[in-house]
Amino acid sequence: MNDCLFCKIAAGNIPAKIVYETDLCCAFEDITPVAPLHILIIPKKHMENLHSMDENDSPIREALFSAISHLVEKNHLTQSGYRLVINSGDDGQQSVPHLHIHLIGKRSLQWPPG
Ligand code: C5P
Repeated sequence: MNDCLFCKIAAGNIPAKIVYETDLCCAFEDITPVAPLHILIIPKKHMENLHSMDENDSPIREALFSAISHLVEKNHLTQSGYRLVINSGDDGQQSVPHLHIHLIGKRSLQWPPG
């Protein structure tokens, strides 16, 4: 999608600190981190949320989970723990309409969220 911020980041047209990339997905540091580690993992293909995926998108789903595993290992989070968040739609307070998974860690997190 031409006017999508995260499509532009995935295409390299808007600068971001990319920390992981394959042909199907990429991950970059959140510009407003809520924890010492705050990474956004996105599919390169534009899709608004998980419900936008169809059966042909299984490789993208696998790529996203592989990215999570890679980043968790790389940042030594398996022992300390971490949180994954997908804000979806208005009630979920999704502010960027391109599917993204927040990977948050390196501090003790509170629950429940607001
Ligand atoms: O889940 P939600 O849609 O609210 O999250 C969007 C995230 O995208 C925010 O955490 C925001 O800081 C991040 N962002 C970013 N780079 C931008 C614009 C937004 O990392 N250029």
